[in-house]
Amino acid sequence: MKAAPFEYARAGSIGEACDLLARRGDDAKLIAGGQSLVPMMAMRLLRPSWLIDINEISALKFAAIEKDFARTGACTRQAEIARDDALAVRVPLLRQALAWVGHVQTRNRGTVGGSLAHADPAAELPVVAQLLGARMLLRSSKGTREIEAGEFFTGPMAVAARPDECLEEIRWPIWSEKRAGSAFTEISVRHGDFAMVAAAAQLALDADGKCTRAVLGLGGVGRTPLAFPKIAARLVGTRLEESAVRDAAQAAAAACEPGGDLHASAEYRRHLAGVLAARALRESYEKAKAAA
Ligand SMILES: Cc1cc2nc3c(=O)[nH]c(=O)nc-3n(C[C@H](O)[C@H](O)[C@H](O)COP(=O)(O)OP(=O)(O)OC[C@H]3O[C@@H](n4cnc5c(N)ncnc54)[C@H](O)[C@@H]3O)c2cc1C
Repeated sequence: MKAAPFEYARAGSIGEACDLLARRGDDAKLIAGGQSLVPMMAMRLLRPSWLIDINEISALKFAAIEKDFARTGACTRQAEIARDDALAVRVPLLRQALAWVGHVQTRNRGTVGGSLAHADPAAELPVVAQLLGARMLLRSSKGTREIEAGEFFTGPMAVAARPDECLEEIRWPIWSEKRAGSAFTEISVRHGDFAMVAAAAQLALDADGKCTRAVLGLGGVGRTPLAFPKIAARLVGTRLEESAVRDAAQAAAAACEPGGDLHASAEYRRHLAGVLAARALRESYEKAKAAA
C-alpha cells in the first residue's frame, strides 16, 4: 500500500522543528530515519497530515562523554553509536544491544531517538534505556524538560512526550566502577528481527568478586521495556552463585506480563525470559570478573 497524502517540511534547527510541531497540530509527525514511521504510514496504521523532517539538524547528531553520563543527540544514527569506541567503553550495553537491532542498512538510517520514541516494547535500545535509567531531554516551543526512561515509556508504541515535543538528547548513566560487566542477549525468529524476548544485565563487583551493584531488564514481555531494580538488588553481596542467578531470573520471569502471538505463546515467552535473564547475568559476571 501507499501512504495517505501528507505535507512535508524540512526543519533546519531544533527551534524550527518545535515551531512547526506547535503550528501543525496533533497529527504532525517528526521523521528521523523513517525505518518505523514509513512502513507504518505505508500500511496506513498512521496517517499524519504533516511530516517534519529532522534529518538536517546537525545539533541533534552527536555523542559526548561527561563525567557521570554519556549524551547522544536524538537524530544520531544507530550505526554511529555502535561504532563509537568511547561510548562502547563507558556505556557498553549500547554497542551490545545495537548488534541485535535490524540490519546494517536499517542501522545506517535509523536513529537512537527514533527507536526510543517509537517505543516498541520488543526493541533493544528501549530495554537499555529502561534498565540504566537513561534520561530523555524533550524540547517544545514552550521550553525543555527531562524525564527518566521509567516515566517516558508508557505503553506499547507510547511515550510521555507531548505531540508538540521533540526528543532532543538522551543521557545514559556511566558506571564508575572499574570491575563491571554487561551483556545483551535475545531470541528472535531471524537475526535482525525484533526480539521475541530480549534480556540485558549490568553488574559491578568488588575486589573479592562480590556483586556491589546490579541491574536487569527484559524486552518483549510486557507493555513497555521492563527493569527489575528490586530483584537485581538481591544479587548484591553474592558472587552470582548459580542459585542466586536462577532465583533472580525466575523472579523476573514471574513478574513480567508476556502476551502470546503466532510466533510464541505467553508461556513460552515467560520461559525464555527466565533462560535469557540468567544468561545475561552469567555473561555480565564473567565479563566483570575479567575486567581489570
Ligand atoms: C527491516 C527492519 C528491521 C528492523 N529491526 C529492528 C530490530 O530488530 N530492533 C529494533 O529496535 N528496531 C528495528 N527496526 C526499526 C528501526 O530500528 C528504526 O530505526 C527505529 O524503530 C526507529 O528509528 P527511526 O530513526 O527510523 O525513526 P522514524 O521511523 O523516523 O520514527 C519513528 C517514530 O519516532 C518518532 N520520532 C523520531 N525521532 C523523534 C524525535 N527526535 N523526537 C520525537 N519523536 C521522534 C517519529 O515521529 C515516529 O513516530 C527495524 C526496521 C526495519 C525496516
